[in-house]
Amino acid sequence: MEIKNYLESEVLRLTEDLIRKDKDMCQCEKCKADVAAYALNHLQPKYVVSDEGHIFTEVEMSSDQEKAEIISVILEGIKLIKNNPRH
Ligand SMILES: [Zn+2]
Repeated sequence: MEIKNYLESEVLRLTEDLIRKDKDMCQCEKCKADVAAYALNHLQPKYVVSDEGHIFTEVEMSSDQEKAEIISVILEGIKLIKNNPRH
C-alpha cells in the first residue's frame, strides 16, 4: 500500500504543457521540476491510497474550477523560475 498525492500527476502533466507553450521559458528538466515543486507546495494536497498503481480511495476528478486554480499556481511558478532560474 502506498499513499500518494493525487495532484502530483495532474500538476506534472499541466506543467509540461504550459512550459512547452511558453517560448521564453527554459525547457530543461530542472526548471520543469522546480515549477512543479512550486505548484505542489502551494496547492492543497489530495492524498489517495494506492496499491501497484490501482487507486482505492474514491477521488473526484478535478473540477474545472480546481483545474483553473492548478493552472494559475503553475503560471505563477513559471514566472518565478523564469526570472530566477536556478542554473
Ligand atoms: Zn532550465
